[in-house]
Amino acid sequence: MAEISERITSLQKNIERICVSSNRNPADITIIGVTKTKSVEKIQEAYNLGLRDLGENRVQELIQKYPELPKNIRWHFIGHLQKNKVKLVAPFVYLIHSIDSMELLEKINEEAKRNSRIINCLLEIKIAKEETKYGISPNNLEKILSESKNFPNITIQGLMGMATFTDDKKQIKEEFFLLGELFQQYKAAFGFTILSMGMSSDYEIAIACGTTHIRIGTLIFGER
Ligand SMILES: *Cc1c(COP(=O)(O)O)cnc(C)c1O
Repeated sequence: MAEISERITSLQKNIERICVSSNRNPADITIIGVTKTKSVEKIQEAYNLGLRDLGENRVQELIQKYPELPKNIRWHFIGHLQKNKVKLVAPFVYLIHSIDSMELLEKINEEAKRNSRIINCLLEIKIAKEETKYGISPNNLEKILSESKNFPNITIQGLMGMATFTDDKKQIKEEFFLLGELFQQYKAAFGFTILSMGMSSDYEIAIACGTTHIRIGTLIFGER
């Protein structure tokens, strides 16, 4: 019990410290607790400690946990989303971070309409050098943003990205810096409010590069 509490406190302290050195306001950083593979009991524990933004990367796992937990949790979908599974999360999802195609956006718009909702989305930008990472190329960003105006049941709130899985801090910084620049570039014209970048291993760099939402699993819930 005390474990999660101590981890959250220490994370918050660290965020405050980094904010001082990077001239950011801690109030502008939202922690999303990433609960994948963790039990409903553990998640409830984090909820009781005040965590309201939670993230899952698999549809099946999310829809199993959703009914068991308090309804005022803001569920973030952070993993790759298949079009045929959109209908399963559309009734309740708070923010989908991982939009990587026009077709997916179209499908979410359709399911949002069916549920009489407007679903908030982020465009996932491919910033990592790895071949395997999903995401939209920065070159296609503007086109997708303009076309997304044809979808009345979705709102693009901003951008999401994942850095290359590496120990090379300089490379991570370059990738997050690029995403931070893109966010700033389109922020005013498209009304962006959310930049989702940074996980347990690289959130400090992400804060320095302007992130607003960090997705933290291991540092809160322990190793998976
Ligand atoms: C698992 C996951 C995280 C959290 O990873 P940790 O290293 O455990 O903090 C963040 N973002 C995405 C997309 C994930 O799948």
